[in-house]
Amino acid sequence: MKKILIIGGGLAGLVVAERLGNAGLVVTVLEREAEAGGVCRSLQQGKYTFDYTGHLLHVACDETKEYLKDLGIWSRLDVHTRNAGIHLGGEITPYPIQIHTWGLPPRIRRDCLLGFVRAWADRGGEEPTSFREWVLERFGEGLAEHFFFPYNEKLYRTKAEELCLDWVGRYVPKPDLEEVVDGALGLHDEAVGYNAVFRYPTEGGIRLLPDSVAGRIAGLHLGAEVVKVNLGEKWVETADGSRLSWDHLVATLSLPLLVDRTADDLPQEVVDARRALRWVRVVNLALGVRGAAPVDHHWLYFPEIQFPFYRVGFPSNHGGVAPEGCHTVSVEISLDPDGGVPGDLMATAERALVDIGLLDQENIEERVLTMLDPAYVVFDHHRREAVATLRQFYADHGVQLTGRWAEWKYSAMEDAILDGMNSARRFIRSFGD
Ligand SMILES: Cc1cc2nc3c(=O)[nH]c(=O)nc-3n(C[C@H](O)[C@H](O)[C@H](O)COP(=O)(O)OP(=O)(O)OC[C@H]3O[C@@H](n4cnc5c(N)ncnc54)[C@H](O)[C@@H]3O)c2cc1C
Repeated sequence: MKKILIIGGGLAGLVVAERLGNAGLVVTVLEREAEAGGVCRSLQQGKYTFDYTGHLLHVACDETKEYLKDLGIWSRLDVHTRNAGIHLGGEITPYPIQIHTWGLPPRIRRDCLLGFVRAWADRGGEEPTSFREWVLERFGEGLAEHFFFPYNEKLYRTKAEELCLDWVGRYVPKPDLEEVVDGALGLHDEAVGYNAVFRYPTEGGIRLLPDSVAGRIAGLHLGAEVVKVNLGEKWVETADGSRLSWDHLVATLSLPLLVDRTADDLPQEVVDARRALRWVRVVNLALGVRGAAPVDHHWLYFPEIQFPFYRVGFPSNHGGVAPEGCHTVSVEISLDPDGGVPGDLMATAERALVDIGLLDQENIEERVLTMLDPAYVVFDHHRREAVATLRQFYADHGVQLTGRWAEWKYSAMEDAILDGMNSARRFIRSFGD
């Protein structure tokens, strides 16, 4: 029987393994951590449950829904209508800002509305080629300067002109003039965007999802970090020196890490493509706090540079993750790929939250720091070509790249499930041929 090896027991790797196992194939999954689930893990500290960072499930496809039912967890996922906001100029207005400027201070609202109307009147020029040009053309100067530029530059740690447009399609709501005018007057009441409704486990955090898949996999090896991948001789080596051969390999670890661990001589174009990949890490400060949550929002965006975080979530507002009368906070801060975490960063973040009335430090019962590395791929102008080169190189060696970081893209948990299903399908089809 052909040996199928999967590197990484995150959601994508688990779904590939589960689907192949379901089809009667024997699969080995090597996961470096002591638990499966990757970024979708949750941990328990004291009386609180913390996700590695805020993870809300958006289900757009029937296939995903059927899969979640088959896993037996559909009824344990509560449905929520998004209640997200933007903290700007000392006020909080609902997300997305482009159709909710009504909640902003008048001067900022005026800038946003005027800029949008001017940009609308000037439409029809040259096609934008960078995120900066696209934002100015679509939303105008006010929304650009108050929200899109500072928020995205904080998140991606990259200037808006260095970002391309390959990622904006699905994730940035694009209203027309009437919607924006309605939004400035508080008349827009339709929920928009890919995340208008989401699901989240009633209890236990988002780990319910990967755990329900992992529980079905026989060949899952935890604490098995792959340190070398040999494409020519088709083996991998783990940190304890064991070698495993494979006939088919699925890689779900991040693309730059895969290249770094590939033990063959690499062509120069692959080395150059690897160097061109850029990303940011995210450090998540999770807090368990006594007392009721300070707001009823699920999460808030912070575009202004005086705040070190770009987003702050209140997971206990949508899930049973805190004891009665307490709440949780999840503070996300983006960092460059290299280096540690600046010593005073967490204290600065907490102080900033205290100053705006979102945290009472004396009531903090638990603090947990988690690091996601990589967290966001930086879609700069070199990404598309570099990724194409690397995908081709691994495809030529019969390796399937599956999931958000192996494919080096921007995607969500539902995509990881579908990526895993599609990857398994490709195998099953090829074995049938
Ligand atoms: C900050 C942030 C917020 C997000 N929020 C949401 C959200 O709200 N909703 C949503 O739907 N999605 C969200 N996502 C996206 C979601 O996390 C991903 O789409 C999904 O988890 C990708 O799963 P994966 O299996 O591709 O990757 P991973 O979960 O990273 O799995 C890869 C696995 O490979 C393992 N691995 C790495 N190196 C090795 C090695 N050398 N040997 C063996 N194993 C190895 C890792 O430990 C990991 O378990 C968010 C992502 C981030 C970063």
